[in-house]
Amino acid sequence: MSNAPLPEYLARCHCGAVTARYHTAVPVSGWSLRACQCSFCRAHDAQSASDPAGVLEFLASRPERLQRYRFGMRMTEFLLCRECGVYVGARLAGEPFGIINARALVPIPIDLPVPQPMNYGAESAVERRDRRARRWTPLAPSSL
Ligand SMILES: [Zn+2]
Repeated sequence: MSNAPLPEYLARCHCGAVTARYHTAVPVSGWSLRACQCSFCRAHDAQSASDPAGVLEFLASRPERLQRYRFGMRMTEFLLCRECGVYVGARLAGEPFGIINARALVPIPIDLPVPQPMNYGAESAVERRDRRARRWTPLAPSSL
């Protein structure tokens, strides 16, 4: 491991109230990009990215605009902006793992891979939690 800081990618909502700082050593062209086929992610055309060796931090310059939306098993907080409606990323409720929505990256990297359609509908809550603990990005202690 080098001690050099990991490259940083910034995701933000349209009005700028909710942001995510994603640190990963993986070059963009090598990202494992997923297009979850659940009705929420489809509606946002979301593309999820994560790196178990990276670091992710969610921030809100205007905390009153942060919406933590939960549905289904209710184990995930989908972080949206109440003001402008953008979906920035998600985190496990109560556990320090998250993903960014690559659609919210600023700027959008030009060499994003084609996302792989994913269907997690058959997972149990335990399987879902275990997969995310393996694949999602650890959250910085300061993260929302
Ligand atoms: Zn916003």
